[in-house]
Amino acid sequence: MKIKFLGAARTVTGSCYLLETGGHKFAIDCGMHQGNAEIEKRNWDVDVYGAGDIEFFLVTHAHIDHSGLLPKMVQNGFKGRIYTTPPTRDLLQIMLLDSAHIQEMEAQWKSKKRLRHGEKLMKPLYTQKDAMGVFPLFDVMPYEHAFEPFPGLKVNFKDAGHILGASLVEMWVKENGCCLKLVFSGDIGRPAQLMIQDPAMIGDADYLFLESTYGNRNHKNEEDSLNELADAISYSYDHGEKVIIPAFAVERTQEMIYSLYLLDKEGRLPKDMPVYVDSPLAIQATEIFKRYPDYLDKETRALLKKGENPLCLPQLHFTLSTQESMAINTVTGPAVVISASGMADAGRIKHHLRHNLWREGAAIVFVGFQAQGTTGRKIIDGATSVRIFNEDVVVKAKVYTINGFSAHAGQSQILEWLSHFHSEGMKVFLIHGEYTAQQELAKLIKERFGFETPIPDYLEETTLKMGQELKRVEYPEQAAPRIDWDYLMADIEGRINQLRERQGQIQSRPWVEQTDLRDKLLELNRSMTTIISEL
Ligand SMILES: [Zn+2]
Repeated sequence: MKIKFLGAARTVTGSCYLLETGGHKFAIDCGMHQGNAEIEKRNWDVDVYGAGDIEFFLVTHAHIDHSGLLPKMVQNGFKGRIYTTPPTRDLLQIMLLDSAHIQEMEAQWKSKKRLRHGEKLMKPLYTQKDAMGVFPLFDVMPYEHAFEPFPGLKVNFKDAGHILGASLVEMWVKENGCCLKLVFSGDIGRPAQLMIQDPAMIGDADYLFLESTYGNRNHKNEEDSLNELADAISYSYDHGEKVIIPAFAVERTQEMIYSLYLLDKEGRLPKDMPVYVDSPLAIQATEIFKRYPDYLDKETRALLKKGENPLCLPQLHFTLSTQESMAINTVTGPAVVISASGMADAGRIKHHLRHNLWREGAAIVFVGFQAQGTTGRKIIDGATSVRIFNEDVVVKAKVYTINGFSAHAGQSQILEWLSHFHSEGMKVFLIHGEYTAQQELAKLIKERFGFETPIPDYLEETTLKMGQELKRVEYPEQAAPRIDWDYLMADIEGRINQLRERQGQIQSRPWVEQTDLRDKLLELNRSMTTIISEL
């Protein structure tokens, strides 16, 4: 069996691991490469993926650095299946369209500039049509329902505790009578994260592919982080200014709303301080969170049962339209603005930073990982000014970096998760981390557990040996995946409601789209009639 590292090797973005066994070719994740120009060039040089030959992808979660190149694969001839969990599929449907929209906008903007220089137009990396080409390829599998994409390969998704629907992937491969167990950590969540369950534990593997984003750092505890957020709020409130929070649209935004809900309960959020969630994507993602209560943690489910909704606040405004978004900056006085992108490189957050970075008394609160080369990283590294929309904006606002909200396990939490493995001779490949963080983590793993810990580089290829020197693992003879009945019922009900609620909106869509929808509904109607007649 062979593995090739097509991304997130000695860096944190572009997750993709291509596997080959017994004439089959498939991959784990298909993330976009983000960072400097050299890294982003990899998004265009995709021949190394061989998209047309890949049979299927297993997608660990909806973050773009794990999924953002799926439309590019479709554009390049990928026609296979994409296995993932139900919430990840729903999140991907909005995130890939958003990503495609960003690509189209960027190409349009660059083309205008090129035309002025008498150069050729620039094509987008992929379009919304390419993104829509991904959707029919999804096959959803809930957690703990092992399935067999081809005879000799069994796959099981477990809760990674990272974002809604995120998975750890357990994989058993049979080759020449031997069985080998691989585990891909995807992104491992931080235990005690709001809303999401703690990461599931795994006890054995021959090869583990372990994320190492925070391989050299621990997080502050949750209470300190909440206190710091409260500090930022009272600092800006007292100065009559705004708190700007760049946050990923999925998970972090919802976690910030939840945190503000907790502060509000404790009387630490002024009642007259409006809170804006200014990201259409975050607004749609919040709706998906509400659709999957079974994927939330006990505490959140208990609140929902009591009729409380931690994703609601009396002073919370969702600003969907551009006009509403712009209006936030015409209003003076204190407010909290949560907007994307999380690394302040794209999206509406750039407008809010341009309006507030230079204002003394304002607060910029970073609550997520900031990759090298991004605007967010420059600000937390102490830049006195940053370039936004071709303008140098001075940094006078107070900058807070609250890493206790991370959706990634910190160093000690990664080691704790790893301590549950009891496989002698397990090899731990460190992936998804910056090289210095990986070196430190590798040293600790070797000292504490004695596991060999290679740190593969981009495009490196390795053979994973079967049998002999490795302890034999059993190929699990589990039954075929059973239907997740509760999910099926909730899914049908959710979709019917969605159609009913959005009827007005649907009627205002272009005629071609309405015709497409009518055809789909008729097809659905035919299938339903067949199913009903056999019940
Ligand atoms: Zn992630």
